[in-house]
Amino acid sequence: MTTTVTPHLFIPGPTNIPDAVRMAMNLPMEDMRSPEFPKFTLPLFEDLKKAFKMKDGRVFLFPSSGTGAWESAIENTLATGDKVLMSRFGQFSLLWVDMAERLGLKVEVCDEEWGTGVPVEKYADILAKDKNHEIKAVFVTQNETATGVASDVAGVRKALDAAKHPALLMVDGVSSVGSLDMRMGEWGVDCCVSGSQKGFMLPTGLGILAVSQKALDINKSKNGRMNRCFFSWEDMIKTNDLGYFPYTPATQLFHGLRTSLDLLFAEGLDNVFARHHRLASGVRAAVDAWGLKLCAKEPKWYSDTVSTVMVPEGIDSNAITKTAYYRYNTSLGLGLNKVAGKAFRIGHLGALDEFMIGGVLFAVEMALKDNGVNIKLGSGTGAAAEYFSKTATKSATGPTPKAKAA
Ligand SMILES: *Cc1c(COP(=O)(O)O)cnc(C)c1O
Repeated sequence: MTTTVTPHLFIPGPTNIPDAVRMAMNLPMEDMRSPEFPKFTLPLFEDLKKAFKMKDGRVFLFPSSGTGAWESAIENTLATGDKVLMSRFGQFSLLWVDMAERLGLKVEVCDEEWGTGVPVEKYADILAKDKNHEIKAVFVTQNETATGVASDVAGVRKALDAAKHPALLMVDGVSSVGSLDMRMGEWGVDCCVSGSQKGFMLPTGLGILAVSQKALDINKSKNGRMNRCFFSWEDMIKTNDLGYFPYTPATQLFHGLRTSLDLLFAEGLDNVFARHHRLASGVRAAVDAWGLKLCAKEPKWYSDTVSTVMVPEGIDSNAITKTAYYRYNTSLGLGLNKVAGKAFRIGHLGALDEFMIGGVLFAVEMALKDNGVNIKLGSGTGAAAEYFSKTATKSATGPTPKAKAA
């Protein structure tokens, strides 16, 4: 069936693009070697640093997806045969391990139960025992998009500091930067990987990689030890310093990024994070009211950008996502890998508010019921509405008048 209504997108990326961002990209192509171009790119680089809360270092913009930024982070800081510490507890952390192995790193993997996250205590133990500092980098998937699990990046920094370990701290922030707090400076994160189509609310097409000064120094000292070309930092730096790129940049996306950063800063990053927490709490209230369980095992693992909902035994989660898609014009995330057929995902990151969360819960509720899940229509949407109205922080009558000048 065709419809004149735009399909409702509630997958955890690509996310909904705000109108202002989409309009900002509706431009003629431009000359990326013009003398005016750096006036646009140099401030963009500077502002990107604020999104990652960096204290030093720089941000690279590759015409790729987040996966390219993963590859760039590894190739520019590590050498073939280097030992690294990683953990695997979902499809994305699993793929990062796979990449590291394929690029020739010796990976010590902590395999964790899906629904849990980075094992900070285990990491602390391993790092404390690594007296010779054989481990060159420690990897953290800040938000495992497959299971809806958020991990404690600051905790891993503490573990590194406690062991006085010099390993680099590498973070996958693809589904968290711009939606969950990322404090690269404070947490001593050396490489933080992101992409354009999740928290940055843009089309797919930019691999965004923020790197610390320490990572840049290591890159210089290890120059040439892992082959790289397209993802080379050196080539980028040479041209980026002047506001240019070593190959054709995605100028349209840059203009969208300019506007999405403006929107994020205008709302205030901390307000953006609080909004994500609030919306996620509403979703979790609904899941609870339906009598269903999240894949995330405990509240400390709950992600504020995506909820992975387990369906009852005997129900196929793919039937639910299909019903939502065909009958209610709503895209939900599928269960991936180990939880395929057993779970569906509600993406709640980016340009969203209570109204939109109410909408997706409405569609999910019907799709669940249609597929034989024993729930009462209105139970989840009602619980979310209850939560949102009880915890409303905005004034019901408009902006509070400014305090009179003394
Ligand atoms: C989406 C995602 C990726 C992959 O990013 P692409 O842009 O699809 O290459 C990696 N890690 C996490 C946590 C993700 O959510």
